[in-house]
Amino acid sequence: MRSIEKVLVANRGEIALRVMRTCRAMGIATVAVYADADADAPFARAADEAVRIGPPPARESYLVINAILDAARITGADAIHPGYGFLSENPGFARAVAEAELVFIGPPAEVIERLGGKQSAKRLARAAGVPTVPGYDGDDQSTAALVHAAGGIGYPLLVKASAGGGGKGMRVVHEASGLAEAIERARGEAASAFGDDTLLLEKYIERPRHIEIQILGDRHGDVVHLWERECSVQRRHQKVIEEAPSPFLDDARRAAMGRAAVELGRAVDYVGAGTVEFITDPAGAFYFLEVNTRLQVEHPVTELTTGLDLVREQIRIARGERLGYASAPPQRGWAIEVRLCAEDADRDYLPTTGTLHAVDIPPTVRADVGVVAGSEVGIHYDSMLGKLIAHAPTRTEAAQVLRRALDETWVPGVVTNREQLARILAHPAFLAGELDTHFLEHHAGELASRMPGLDRVRVAAVALVVHGVLARRGADELAPPGWRNVRFSDQSVTLSLGDAEIAVGYRPAGDGLEIAIGGKTTHVSRYGRDGDRVWFVEGAGTHGHRRSARVATSGARSWVLAEGRMLAFVEQPRFPEAQRAQVAGALVAPMPGKVVKVLAELGQEVAAGAALVVLEAMKMEHTVRAASAGIVRAVHVVVGDQVDTDRLLAVVTA
Ligand code: ADP
Ligand code: ADP
Ligand code: MG
Repeated sequence: MRSIEKVLVANRGEIALRVMRTCRAMGIATVAVYADADADAPFARAADEAVRIGPPPARESYLVINAILDAARITGADAIHPGYGFLSENPGFARAVAEAELVFIGPPAEVIERLGGKQSAKRLARAAGVPTVPGYDGDDQSTAALVHAAGGIGYPLLVKASAGGGGKGMRVVHEASGLAEAIERARGEAASAFGDDTLLLEKYIERPRHIEIQILGDRHGDVVHLWERECSVQRRHQKVIEEAPSPFLDDARRAAMGRAAVELGRAVDYVGAGTVEFITDPAGAFYFLEVNTRLQVEHPVTELTTGLDLVREQIRIARGERLGYASAPPQRGWAIEVRLCAEDADRDYLPTTGTLHAVDIPPTVRADVGVVAGSEVGIHYDSMLGKLIAHAPTRTEAAQVLRRALDETWVPGVVTNREQLARILAHPAFLAGELDTHFLEHHAGELASRMPGLDRVRVAAVALVVHGVLARRGADELAPPGWRNVRFSDQSVTLSLGDAEIAVGYRPAGDGLEIAIGGKTTHVSRYGRDGDRVWFVEGAGTHGHRRSARVATSGARSWVLAEGRMLAFVEQPRFPEAQRAQVAGALVAPMPGKVVKVLAELGQEVAAGAALVVLEAMKMEHTVRAASAGIVRAVHVVVGDQVDTDRLLAVVTA
């Protein structure tokens, strides 16, 4: 038995906070390590002590083993929790922690080594009698051997990096003619992204569901499972919504998958928390995918349905305690989790950046979130801001609670997937449990965002006017008396909302306001605000209708959350400036990122669609192309520039 008095959390964001919460509850002191970009982040402030480990890029901070061990030494931490991502599945890290005579809160290095790569994990699974996806996981990695194996597997098939993770390092190949090239490219990517070019081939299962089993193993040889989580709603092979139980499993299949996961765990002497991932085909057969030898992003749905705290179980196991139960507690009710991400679901899920003006999530859900008002959302790390998790007696109710919570979630300042998540939860196919990993593509049409209805726009614009009037009234009190005359003249303002321009005029009327929006007049009899929540009564007397919205303003830009929809208004300057005219043929950055290639040369003639500039953000490359044929009139960036959304990159005109 080892005692643990102080835990260093080698991670950031929501998971660092999550781990510290349980440490605190167990009487354990906490240490954060942070990169410069996170110096004031909530997790760094929440820890009892925090140590700087380097500049923002993860390679120079969160992935630097020695910097983290130094921080443990400086603070006298006796254990390290790796969270997920970063070094959590790095056997070299687990080994270095053990060699420094610290407790690694996770499996021993040898177990991570055996299960960390998909190739070796798959072989172990097969040896333990667990069904695996048909494919090739051999040692001969020559292109000839892979091509030969592909012949026996058939198409479509998947080329996978053994060391891949987070949905990265996978390529679908539809026919034999595309195979050799896919292998070469996957090999190159795997070598540069994961430092290991070992490849696997797998039959590409059509319309599978992703169902995984949570396991726990102690140092005394006991392994149990804590039932399943279904994570079929994915984009780019990455999970977006997760739930427990799975609506797909009956008791027999649930038991069979649990048994398979435990058998694999026993076969490798598994210690700690881990997840055995499977996909199932429509007929119900299940196939092993991989093991994640760490706490999973979606662990809260297991916690809410089993009543266990998985971080507490991890720490107990690390101390050498026995699990103390031979089987899982029964699943109670239904839990659904959504990943709230700074990304634009309508623009190919491109990551977004900015400053959050507020972060407010209703208390009806568990919110595991790493940001607060004032947090900067940058380009250095994962786009996930946090998770919202609902728990209710039934799946239908959990979905409804979660959807309502998303409607009320207030995170102005950065584009997020909040509304897309709410639309998914309301979708009839989701509610019927008809899921597969292509759910988002199959229902893309119905799930795309629509223009907000006129009534919603009107409510939002009224709220914005009321907010402005109240804010100016506050300012008036400091202004010389003569200024008050202004109140009695009509005011007008032009708001732009996406491509639309909305003319708004308003004037005081008794205790209220008369507000004309696009020709329709709203009579507001009373109004006020409570912090950033603005309310007003439309009409008067018997049918007076009180409505409300939240408003955040930064310069000319305002964010209004009105009845579930977030509208971003920009107030137009009263006297349009000549410079405001858009540059014809302007190519702007669709996302924040780093310029990695400039292909356009000044004066060069280019065809429509020609690649001009390549941006990189979140390890993804994005090519900016000429909208029409013409001549490159200007190039405004060089390789290495960091650019924000809408930054002018180049100009191409006829
Ligand atoms: P989960 O199965 O818990 O959802 P994911 O596989 O999606 O986990 O990854 C969890 C987090 O770790 C994500 O933020 C993901 O981007 C990151 N991650 C996982 N594996 C890697 C890897 N090999 N390299 C970089 N990031 C990774
Ligand atoms: P990662 O390490 O990136 O999490 P996984 O092997 O766990 O990689 O696969 C991630 C996702 O990719 C799965 O949840 C599933 O959606 C898809 N996928 C993986 N293997 C297959 C397969 N053989 N057939 C179809 N889809 C697959
Ligand atoms: Mg996986």
